[in-house]
Amino acid sequence: MISDKEEKDKKAQKCNRCGARGAVYHQMGLNLCRRCFREIAAKMGFKKYE
Ligand SMILES: [Zn+2]
Repeated sequence: MISDKEEKDKKAQKCNRCGARGAVYHQMGLNLCRRCFREIAAKMGFKKYE
């Protein structure tokens, strides 16, 4: 049985790295907020995603 809370958490956009909710990117299977995405992207060489 799935509780209402779990259902909500499933749909919530949450950053995989810092847990921030809100503006989260889902590109390339990543669930990262703007801030973390920029850091990760820079490390991985995705400079075009600035
Ligand atoms: Zn983050």
